[in-house]
Amino acid sequence: MSRVWSEQAPGSVSLVGAGPGDAELLTLRAWRRLQTAEVLVYDNLVGPGIVDFAPVTAERIYVGKSAGNHTLPQEDICQLLLEKAREGKRVVRLKGGDPFVFGRGGEEMDVLLQQAVPVEIVPGITAALGAGASFGFPLTHRDHAQSCVFVTGHLKDQALELNWQALAQPNQTLVIYMGIHGLERIAAGLQGAGLAPETPAALVYRATWPEQRLHACTLATLAATAQRHGIKPPTLLVIGSVVALAAPERPSALV
Ligand code: SAH
Repeated sequence: MSRVWSEQAPGSVSLVGAGPGDAELLTLRAWRRLQTAEVLVYDNLVGPGIVDFAPVTAERIYVGKSAGNHTLPQEDICQLLLEKAREGKRVVRLKGGDPFVFGRGGEEMDVLLQQAVPVEIVPGITAALGAGASFGFPLTHRDHAQSCVFVTGHLKDQALELNWQALAQPNQTLVIYMGIHGLERIAAGLQGAGLAPETPAALVYRATWPEQRLHACTLATLAATAQRHGIKPPTLLVIGSVVALAAPERPSALV
């Protein structure tokens, strides 16, 4: 039988994707890394109960991050990972979703590798996939969308210069992460590039968490919908005809 299980080496960092929220959406590898973690560094997008998979003896360090409100600056997080790995610890850096999808995993990996600290990446289910699964809309569908694009609506210097033409293509699903502060700009940019104002859209708050919500609207009513419901992060913006297939009230398959 082929080998299935791998072990983390002491003195290394595992950048682990915690998935969109629901603990059952962890990968087996993520779960195993948590169980042997000696230092656990995690942030505010990690879902309920996931940190509890680590041994009680593991040192838990919360570095909670939301846009513009960093509990610990990024450089300090990198420094912390370096220090703990150099002490010979098995360090698990747990991040919401996938570490390489808008998660700064690439930046943390670079710093560690520059200092010759071994790094492993454990992929996670990114928020877009959790949102589609939880609310029953496929991200691609032969009758609706042949492509799906993940975009960030939050840029380093606050400027939002996206390639509207490329994003406004027909038969495409757009998933915008960290976009809720630029909804009017996004709606105007996409309509300016040719997307119809009645294009279906959805604001998906905390997909796969117990408090998850989907607010359906259109491109034209996006900003007003967000305002009416007092939308806050973490929320994904999904645009395209696939979101009209969402069925939040469909019968549950769970007992
Ligand atoms: N690495 C993460 C993304 C981090 S960026 C991933 O792969 O999912 C943070 C943004 O992701 C949030 O502002 C929000 O737009 C989105 N996000 C993360 N988790 C989410 C969730 N459960 N529901 C909705 N949006 C989420």
